[in-house]
Amino acid sequence: MELKPFLEVQKKRPFLIAGPCSAETEGQVMSIARDLAAQGNVDLFRSGIWKPRTRPGMFEGVGSEGLRWLKRVKEETGLRTTVEVANAHHVYEALKFGVDVLWIGARTTVNPFSVQEIADALRGVDIPVMIKNPINPDLELWLGAFERLNKVGITRLAAIHRGFSSAAKTQYRNVPHWEIAIELMRRLPNLPIIGDNSHICGNRHMLEEVAQEMMDLNFDGLITEVHCNPDEAWSDAKQQITPDRYQELIGNLVLRAEKDAGFLNSIEALRVQIDQIDNELLNLLGKRMGFASEIGEYKKRNNIAILQTGRWNEILNSAVQKGRQRGLSDEFVIQLLTAIHQESIRRQTLVMNEHEATEAAMAAK
Ligand code: PEP
Ligand code: MN
Repeated sequence: MELKPFLEVQKKRPFLIAGPCSAETEGQVMSIARDLAAQGNVDLFRSGIWKPRTRPGMFEGVGSEGLRWLKRVKEETGLRTTVEVANAHHVYEALKFGVDVLWIGARTTVNPFSVQEIADALRGVDIPVMIKNPINPDLELWLGAFERLNKVGITRLAAIHRGFSSAAKTQYRNVPHWEIAIELMRRLPNLPIIGDNSHICGNRHMLEEVAQEMMDLNFDGLITEVHCNPDEAWSDAKQQITPDRYQELIGNLVLRAEKDAGFLNSIEALRVQIDQIDNELLNLLGKRMGFASEIGEYKKRNNIAILQTGRWNEILNSAVQKGRQRGLSDEFVIQLLTAIHQESIRRQTLVMNEHEATEAAMAAK
């Protein structure tokens, strides 16, 4: 794939993109842009004009009207601007108003017809385009989007890693699956990658930690949602931060050395993945114990013994078999499952005793 430098990304690290999730009013856009420009921690001003929303009836963006405000941002603060485009009409409108960079959102990358429509609208146009990962953890689909854009002549491309949707409840709004970003870097080493800490976290308290993880993985930049009054934001209120907080977050970042050939095997990259897996394991164990307590309730109601030896044997035998297929020793699997089983029994015993204690108290009344 023929790639040309994406703005000054190669020269300036981290490359910083900030601005509100959505443009709401002219005053809101101008206030955030002025604050960010004055602080000097932004290379590109982001703002959603057309918003893909999960349910109809939510705020779907101000539309082309907001493009006039972005033009004003550029004229008055000198900041370059970027908006999300999801179809050919959006592309034509954004180009008409002189938007500097386009981005394709996660809900669009997922659909090859939509990506192709955007690519066709951009044939013969030289504009930088950023592509967010698709909402599902599918690297090929993400790569396919870069290929579609590149085929029509777009050579200034960048990736935005915004995490992946998951049915499991986790601490993230969108699970990072760092291994997918790392594999993208391996497959397209010249493609800049920008971390969207806002949409991965979905909250304010983890933003800094995730931004640092992105720096530790040698991401080229960050895209963060900044709002003058985050609590009152019309979209993504929980994850937006004030310009002052943003300034502080950027100031606290520890920057590591540039990407080098050894990076993809570096201990840092591996550790980040291990931490991620440990988090997932703990989340799953928490969930499993919740079910154990529910089973405890059922057994109590139906007067069934806690320990079901037949069931325990089945679990253990099947786990040992599955462990073997995954290169885990029998001894390790037995130890692990025994610890989990013991905790499960402890939980169920707790549930039963709790009820007995309540019943005894009731009887005593
Ligand atoms: C956004 O950047 O506000 C947005 C809609 O993001 P995503 O496409 O990552 O959901
Ligand atoms: Mn958003």
